[in-house]
Amino acid sequence: MMVYRQTKIKGWFELQRTVCPVCGKSGGCMIHESGNKIACIRERSEIQFGKGSCQSWLHQIKDGVKVDVGNTVSNTNSRKKFPVHLLHGFFSKLAKDSTTELSHMHSQHLMNVRKLPERTIINRQYRSFPQHPMVTAKNVLGPFADRLADPKMTVGIPGFYMNQDSWTINGQSGILIPYRNEYNLITGYQIRVDEVKNFVETDQLKYPNLKAYVIKQPNYVNIVVNGKKFWEGVLEQGKMEKVVDENGEILGTVKLARGQRYYWLSSPNKKYGTVAGDPIPIHVAIPSKQLESWNKAVEADLSNPDSDSHTTLRKSKAIWITEGALKADIAIDHIAEAFSDIIEEVGDTMLAAPGINSWRALLPLLKTMGVKRINIAFDMDATVNEHVSPYFHDMVKEFKTLGFEVYVAAWSLNNGKGIDDLLLNGFTPQLRKL
Ligand SMILES: [Zn+2]
Repeated sequence: MMVYRQTKIKGWFELQRTVCPVCGKSGGCMIHESGNKIACIRERSEIQFGKGSCQSWLHQIKDGVKVDVGNTVSNTNSRKKFPVHLLHGFFSKLAKDSTTELSHMHSQHLMNVRKLPERTIINRQYRSFPQHPMVTAKNVLGPFADRLADPKMTVGIPGFYMNQDSWTINGQSGILIPYRNEYNLITGYQIRVDEVKNFVETDQLKYPNLKAYVIKQPNYVNIVVNGKKFWEGVLEQGKMEKVVDENGEILGTVKLARGQRYYWLSSPNKKYGTVAGDPIPIHVAIPSKQLESWNKAVEADLSNPDSDSHTTLRKSKAIWITEGALKADIAIDHIAEAFSDIIEEVGDTMLAAPGINSWRALLPLLKTMGVKRINIAFDMDATVNEHVSPYFHDMVKEFKTLGFEVYVAAWSLNNGKGIDDLLLNGFTPQLRKL
């Protein structure tokens, strides 16, 4: 089990599938190699850590254990992403390849649950993760396959990697959701996986000798202590259990936790693989009718070698921000209707950050797009959830300091969790100036 993942920050490792000693949750928090400092993404402290794209706070911990650097996962061997124009070239081939055609199940989900018209689904280029990724990789790479297989190459395509002697794509069955930048270039994909997999969260910092795995989804677990099988059986989801030996001594803790629904198309730690981030893609969602003509403009632009592709930059005085591209796509079509009489004022562009804690990644884009007004439309629990609200307050403060007009889209949680749910349920958010 891979517990420590090396981050871009030297000497810092992300804790994976093991509880953070500060917030008690897993995922996102980092430990310093000395073992006595934690950069927690959920629990505030006096010291802000890393003003980069992801916000966290520094905490000192006692009795820390030094990170076994030899036993960590490193992304440093991964390739960098191609420049955006080239990435878009590969990704738009992926979006048109017959092997990624939207499956019946996926189009039913988008039409019946998300209430998306068929034309919108086609325009937005939602696809299905291929059943035979090796075939897809071959189609997408075409004559570039050999050049990319040169070990001296330092750039690549997120998700693509070399398996034995063939290119393939890392991922699992699910809907492929494109992330489009401010020039309408596809710079990444998220996969909305069909099956959310459970995993076992342990406390590796306190009990490094206990490991646990789900050997059969959703809840059949194998617990290993000191490399030997200790127990197997069914665990109840969300309940933390102490693992005790015959003398009553605690060997560790286990908790069956739910995995994520959305993953980046990414291939870290794979041969010739490429990570999705660095920088993390931000999605620019606009109403689907406008996207239809923007798509045509971009295509004409890219096929004309003399053109200046900067002509397709989306400028917008007022924008909305939320989390997740699919949500933004759905919401912006409804916003364009619900606010049609004041659309100039509120804006018909929605930016999707991968998460509320990565709001800083939006800052350069706001400048490029000429934004003056921001409507914050993160999930309603973002303002009340104790672990999320610190980001919210810092974000608002920073936006105001930078001179933006800041509004929050507010609604009753009873009417929907996300802005997409709210609008789909026939309600409209209230815009309150902050
Ligand atoms: Zn934490």
